[in-house]
Amino acid sequence: MTFEELRELDRQYVVQSYGRNPIAIHHGQGATLYGLDGREYIDFASGIGVLSVGTAHPKWTAAVAEQAGKLGHISNLYYSEPYARLAEKLCTRSGMAAAFFGNSGAEGNEGIIKLARKWSWEKYGEGRGTIITLNRSFHGRTITTLAATGQDVFHKYFFPFTEGFRRAEPSLDSVKQAAGHDVCAVLVELVQGEGGVLPLDPDFVHELVKLCQDRDWLFLVDEVQTGVGRTGSLFCFQQYGVQPDAVSFAKGIAGGLPMGGFLVNQRCRKVFGPGDHASTFGGNPVSAAAACAVLDILDDGAIAQVKEKGAYLRESIEDMDLPCLGGTRGMGLMVGVEVNGGFSNKELCAKLNQAGLLSLTAGPGLRFLPPLTITKEEMDKGLAILKATLS
Ligand SMILES: *Cc1c(COP(=O)(O)O)cnc(C)c1O
Repeated sequence: MTFEELRELDRQYVVQSYGRNPIAIHHGQGATLYGLDGREYIDFASGIGVLSVGTAHPKWTAAVAEQAGKLGHISNLYYSEPYARLAEKLCTRSGMAAAFFGNSGAEGNEGIIKLARKWSWEKYGEGRGTIITLNRSFHGRTITTLAATGQDVFHKYFFPFTEGFRRAEPSLDSVKQAAGHDVCAVLVELVQGEGGVLPLDPDFVHELVKLCQDRDWLFLVDEVQTGVGRTGSLFCFQQYGVQPDAVSFAKGIAGGLPMGGFLVNQRCRKVFGPGDHASTFGGNPVSAAAACAVLDILDDGAIAQVKEKGAYLRESIEDMDLPCLGGTRGMGLMVGVEVNGGFSNKELCAKLNQAGLLSLTAGPGLRFLPPLTITKEEMDKGLAILKATLS
């Protein structure tokens, strides 16, 4: 099939809810991808932070093939070894107590929202279901996670949205103003991803955790984008030196297969009992085996390199001193770049994609989320495309 034929088929039969780049990727290896026409692309997007160990990593591919050949699905009415093994790996490496698996980031966040409300209901009764979220946050596309998302552009058409969310600026004063007897939790991304790669101030995060303790609110962290090594530790909260009551994850966890979910600490491990929460596909054996392989590949040594790679990308971009780009920010391989000089980030991003560097936008800037296993050679190739295209 040629690219033109594919585009026509898509136009005719697919709901046109995505602004796609005029590119079709056929296959790849690591952070190097090839189009339908055989053209090479360097991957600084990893399928929006999903391809944590790159494309077709041999250990990942073997784990997926082996599990698919044994058992592809069984449902949560039966015990499943990959599910339990993955839960153990995540808990022992994060200090959390127990795991629940679903299929997406939004579903992970829905889970911790339900968890906070049930926890509060059992302790305090009705009327304490409000959750404080932050401006510029992004928590997903379901009706409830859209309501939790702190960006007005997402709050149109789909009324009525789920009630029980109140927004604050990422400052202690603003959160205190949003407080009330109806609040049970706060939900934050430690580095706001879609909002523009905006790391929260560590002092604010520590004050917020203290406030949660004082008011008996749960501290919920959305690590759908920051989790699984992206920022240079398995979870970003480990670098902030805080421990959430519940943390959601998704994107990079299964290295390209659908999986999301959440971890809870000791105090929240008994909130959900049989029948309280479920997901038909959740923790599917193939996705779980893939996730176990991802965590084995991303041992602490590989994750430690994430910070160095991120620093190298940021320094290299800043050293180019391109008139259309401003400063960089982020953590690890979650890199945001400001756009300057009257250019639009969408226009620059489209140019980079066209030139062979798969890139993303976030807020008003550019965003790079390469595979965590990207090599120095691949980074240099990508940086050379960036320089040549944006000079
Ligand atoms: C991508 C993202 C989500 C939504 O994940 P889906 O898998 O698309 O549902 C939620 N929160 C954050 C922080 C994200 O980056």
